[in-house]
Amino acid sequence: MRQPLLRVENLRKEFPVSRGALFGSDSRVVKAVDDVSFTLGAGEVVGLVGESGSGKSTLGRLVLGLITPTSGSVWFEGEETTALKGSVQRSLRLQMQIVFQDPFGSLNPRMPVGKSIGYSLQVNGIMKGRALQDKVGDLLDQVGLSRSHASRFPHQLSGGQRQRVGIARAISVNPKLIVADEPIASLDLSAQAQVLNLFKELQQEMGISYIFVTHDLSVAAFMSDRIAVMYGGKILEMAERQQLLDNPRHPYTQALLSAAVLGSWQGQVEEIVLEGDPPSPISPPPGCKFHPRCPLAGPLCQVAEPELKEVEDGHVAACHVVHGESVDQVAAVAD
Ligand code: SF4
Repeated sequence: MRQPLLRVENLRKEFPVSRGALFGSDSRVVKAVDDVSFTLGAGEVVGLVGESGSGKSTLGRLVLGLITPTSGSVWFEGEETTALKGSVQRSLRLQMQIVFQDPFGSLNPRMPVGKSIGYSLQVNGIMKGRALQDKVGDLLDQVGLSRSHASRFPHQLSGGQRQRVGIARAISVNPKLIVADEPIASLDLSAQAQVLNLFKELQQEMGISYIFVTHDLSVAAFMSDRIAVMYGGKILEMAERQQLLDNPRHPYTQALLSAAVLGSWQGQVEEIVLEGDPPSPISPPPGCKFHPRCPLAGPLCQVAEPELKEVEDGHVAACHVVHGESVDQVAAVAD
């Protein structure tokens, strides 16, 4: 079997809860990412979909090593990145880039955008002088900006243009992986479509793998080869894009899909309206984290967390009902 570009194993990230100096310490933790495993192939796009607080952005940052996991590991081209140090780690980091949600906040307001684009090439000693200037010009062409944009400052560009600069900066070092963290969420509608198309073109031209983080299932469906649905820090379902759109198995994915105009499955059901809010990350419900909102929940769901298991080839889901387990069985035992 071909080695995946990226392998994430049992990754967890817990943040301590701070109550502030006046109120003393708090031993509770926020489980932002809770035992997540998946792989990503070379040139593959995996969409991470979930509501705010589902852990998708934290997972993207853990993959890149921007934050340290509480436990678990990340493997890139067969090397455990969480164990690397010094120059090896720096060179590996160049292979993995990020495009942020807010292009304005991610660019230095006092630096002309040409300099921002060439910054990684310059500080890592990859290019300088005329060659660097030419490369920045080529990158501006590649992302659909004019070479004259190099001398402008971020505030002189539109949101869509700034995001193109962010993309040019990310691809400048020929990365193998880009984590795109809600990269169109702060753009207006016309710029959203253009930026998505740009991501797609670059992926096809350069063969880059993406982890595409989004709250919008239709964006994930447009961009991704496979989609992972996250909830409460966990992956609840993951499958090849069309498999997930045509045959969603998890009740949460079904609810998300029923509200979107996607896939053949959506045409067969009425919209499933979810009551309640996503789980509190500080005190999530026991058992299946989705049980307070799940129309199929039974007593078992309130005490036993379902495993993420295969339901068909390459399609995994975490739900007792999907795996044929009787959700009434705990009540029966208690009686
Ligand atoms: Fe719903 Fe139970 Fe399945 Fe969770 S395990 S999704 S609560 S049926």
